[in-house]
Amino acid sequence: MKFQVIARDNEESKEVARLITNKLRARDQIFDEVLPDVIIFIGGDGTFLRVVHEQIKRINQIKLVGVNLGALGFFCDYNKDEISLLVEDILTDNVLEKKYRLLDVKLIGKDFSEQFNAVNEVRIENPFHTLVCEVNINGQKLEDYHGNGIVVASSVGSSAYNKSLGGALIECEIPLLELTEIAPIQNAVYQSLGSSLVMDAKNVVSLNGDFSRIVVGYDHLIHVFDKKIDHVEITSSELSVCLLRKRSYNYVDKIRKSFVAR
Ligand code: NAP
Repeated sequence: MKFQVIARDNEESKEVARLITNKLRARDQIFDEVLPDVIIFIGGDGTFLRVVHEQIKRINQIKLVGVNLGALGFFCDYNKDEISLLVEDILTDNVLEKKYRLLDVKLIGKDFSEQFNAVNEVRIENPFHTLVCEVNINGQKLEDYHGNGIVVASSVGSSAYNKSLGGALIECEIPLLELTEIAPIQNAVYQSLGSSLVMDAKNVVSLNGDFSRIVVGYDHLIHVFDKKIDHVEITSSELSVCLLRKRSYNYVDKIRKSFVAR
């Protein structure tokens, strides 16, 4: 196996990374920073998101496994006291392979189009003024939206920003899109759905409007652009990220430990 270890930028994470690297090398595994088969990330979900974006061109060829170092660690099943177990589990294939679909996002203007991928969600926001846009599903109009913004999350992102907005938690392996409004204006003049909408992954969500002052955020990133966007299109991607989880992994247990009690 060719492996790489990526740690959050602190001494404790780097020390854990060194221990794992030494253990795997001692078992004749090859450290390869360029073309690894498996990447062990040390930190939390922020580190996971960073690694996926760094590896996006090879994402279908690699597997990721996480060690949690004090963060929420929704994507990490091992802790720092389980390094030997992690090494043993990888080498004996005693893990579950979970594939999580990414999102494809297209920003389209008069004479340009830009595309990128997101793991958790894409956020089309105007934090200063009312964002006005038409929301369409498969070319069919759903609503005229007025408010702070629109979030489209993947199943795996349903437990992130989407959850804070009151969106539903979706079991990570189910390929779906979830559209959630941020502070929609609901009054005698403006009305929108006002609840999150969970859709089959085959759907195409498109937004048309005046996007001259928006911020396009996705995962931990912000898309910076200097052109006028007229249209945003969000679909479920052909790309997915393969996460190695403990054999004992269970979604209900994960959300209980993450959101109810540790
Ligand atoms: P961040 O500080 O890296 O993450 C914010 C929190 O969200 C952290 O506790 C992180 O876990 C957790 N998290 C990330 N992805 C998750 C997922 N799929 N399920 C459950 N929890 C998850 O923030 P950032 O760099 O600005 O953005 C990264 C992500 O954080 C975004 O994609 C967004 O969804 C989320 N976020 C949420 C809010 C909110 O809920 N109001 C605000 C900003 C960002 P770790 O502690 O393990 O890193």
